[in-house]
Amino acid sequence: MESMTIRLQSSSIGSVGVHRSSCSAVGKGILSGTSWSPQVQQHLRSKFAGANLRAQMLKSGRKYCVIFGALPTQAEVATSAFEDELSNIDWDDLGFGIRKTDYMYLMKCGEDGVFSGGDLFPFGNIELSPSAGVLNYGQGLFEGLKAYRRADGRIVLFRPEENALRLTTGAERMCMAAPSVEQFVEAVKQTVLANKRWIPPFGKGSLYIRPLLLGSGAVLGLAPAPEVTFLIYVSPVGNYFKEGLAPIQLQVETKYHRATPGGTGNVKTIGNYAPVLKVQRSAKTEGFSDVLYLDAINKKYLEEVSSCNIFVVKDKTVSTPALHGTILSGVTRKSIIEVARSRGYEVHERLVSVDELMDADEVFCTGTAVVVSPVGSITYLDRRVTYGNGAPGEVSQELYSALTSIQMGLADDNMGWTIEVK
Ligand SMILES: *Cc1c(COP(=O)(O)O)cnc(C)c1O
Repeated sequence: MESMTIRLQSSSIGSVGVHRSSCSAVGKGILSGTSWSPQVQQHLRSKFAGANLRAQMLKSGRKYCVIFGALPTQAEVATSAFEDELSNIDWDDLGFGIRKTDYMYLMKCGEDGVFSGGDLFPFGNIELSPSAGVLNYGQGLFEGLKAYRRADGRIVLFRPEENALRLTTGAERMCMAAPSVEQFVEAVKQTVLANKRWIPPFGKGSLYIRPLLLGSGAVLGLAPAPEVTFLIYVSPVGNYFKEGLAPIQLQVETKYHRATPGGTGNVKTIGNYAPVLKVQRSAKTEGFSDVLYLDAINKKYLEEVSSCNIFVVKDKTVSTPALHGTILSGVTRKSIIEVARSRGYEVHERLVSVDELMDADEVFCTGTAVVVSPVGSITYLDRRVTYGNGAPGEVSQELYSALTSIQMGLADDNMGWTIEVK
């Protein structure tokens, strides 16, 4: 199949409402055209002259809706019929922002709790009932992981099954069904391959992968949504903080809290993030990069930053707050703990008091988006403590290099953390 028939702009897809009785088959397949009304056939012919059409029947209330477009078949994805050439954008100017790519992945599940029929669709808007659970009651989760293009051209993912497992834990907490680990990883691979031309060249960044799990079914009273949608979209990214690898400036938040015991701080549910915006915005107007939260009971122990975990280094011992239900269990956090131990550091997961920041040697944050981000200063009440005179600390730098070397294929992956996508 020629690539021109695969790559289509989202303006060239569309949907038509049809009655089930006018369709010869309900499900996915090549459109034969014979079972379609003359108007629909004419519409399709004018839009997709010569293209190999596929369509998907979606049940929309009591009607069936056909989403059609020249979508790739699984076989085409597998044989990389997508154009391999890199997209024509300025790869040196990637921040951490959303950029429209070619494809997204969608898979649904009804009240039987079984996800099936997942497929790629041209990237674009999705349709939701105004009474969807996610819109009304925040029943939703997100994930975040990255695909890297290595120097030899190979494309790899970093521990995607960890994200799949975390989504399962979160889904259980939020009363949603979740795709299996295999379904998750397979869907991520398909989405990455379909958007291969958006994976930055070696050394320029990575492809950020954003899976979502949404209570998409309609509800009115507070209840779990009867339908759950699993969606994945991607965007090429560079550095998360505008500082890049330069140290970030944090402010310890003493009034607001990100999470409380018994709440949902330990799952990546969407409702944990909008409440931090106000706090983050006011810190930013004061010149800080982000805020560091304390525990809600004692207002004394470190928890984490808005969207990354925190580590404190003192006399070559590395400490990070233990996971007691209010802190998000980062895949990067877990990986840095293992990398640090393998390099001979003593690592403790324990209660870390805010006072310890005042005489720490180094502080750094971890997360998929930031990787390892050195902290240059922390302000707590009216005290400001600085680390490393504006330069990243030695331990932060060593652990950053060790982890990114595994991800980029510059060091052996003895842990078996990377998976090639092909
Ligand atoms: C996503 C996230 C992290 C980092 O997790 P990773 O798996 O390392 O990306 C840390 N804290 C919060 C609150 C998060 O949402």
